[in-house]
Amino acid sequence: MLYYKQMAELLFGTAGIPHSAWPLTTIDGIKRIAELGLGCMEIEFVQGIYLNEEEAHQVAETAVNSGVKLSAHAPYFLNFNSHEPRKIRASQGILHKAARMASICGAQSVIFHAGFYLGDPPEKVYQTVKRYLAEVIDRLKEEDIQLSLRPEVSGKGSQFGSIEEILKLCTELEGIAPAIDFAHWHARTGGFNSYKEFAYVLEQTKQRLGSAALDNMHIHISGIAYGQKGEIRHLDLVNSDLNYVDLLRALKDYRVKGLVICESPSQEDDARLLRDSYHSL
Ligand SMILES: [Zn+2]
Repeated sequence: MLYYKQMAELLFGTAGIPHSAWPLTTIDGIKRIAELGLGCMEIEFVQGIYLNEEEAHQVAETAVNSGVKLSAHAPYFLNFNSHEPRKIRASQGILHKAARMASICGAQSVIFHAGFYLGDPPEKVYQTVKRYLAEVIDRLKEEDIQLSLRPEVSGKGSQFGSIEEILKLCTELEGIAPAIDFAHWHARTGGFNSYKEFAYVLEQTKQRLGSAALDNMHIHISGIAYGQKGEIRHLDLVNSDLNYVDLLRALKDYRVKGLVICESPSQEDDARLLRDSYHSL
């Protein structure tokens, strides 16, 4: 399993194929990322793992030739805390398949939503999620599949994935690394929108996982609409209250390296805004 392999810099890119790619294929998306001067792209397996092995090899080749780093987002419908054993098995199978395909694509990380509390005590949910994830990790290890599984910080109080839960999983399971979605955490808490709070998250990450974790971070940023229950939908940064400039400042001050994936509806426009703002600091 890859473990915080040091990245040279902080790269910016899109969640999925950029709108301005044509045709809208993964390969053309990667080429478009390079043309735009962006550094990375997250392959969206969110509605299904749409590549076959042969295509995945071509994706890997294109990414290497274009100098674009890849990650992949596993299907949305995983739930490692389902009350139906059948659905847990299915979640394990899907995450394994997404990880396998992502690794053929040359991605270093697969990002996923671990599940829902479903009214269970969070500590019990944590143990359940940990137990079933450990089985997926064992299987990937046996097959020598080299990549990090990255559970994502969630945007809703009903969804497993507080910063604390994600960092704890990373300390207790080898092969797990965090996917810190700052927009989600802002939406879920209604806070975490100041330099001090962003720095606190990075400080916690450093203290719990070691400074090497900051050398290979996976971060999601977008504008976000939220209410009492958290996330409602993603927005473009300009239409949202996300204090992305101070977030970027904290990332810079902590010398964070890795991938910043922009999940705004405008995709490449906001990814470039983030990149340019970061480099102008
Ligand atoms: Zn996600």
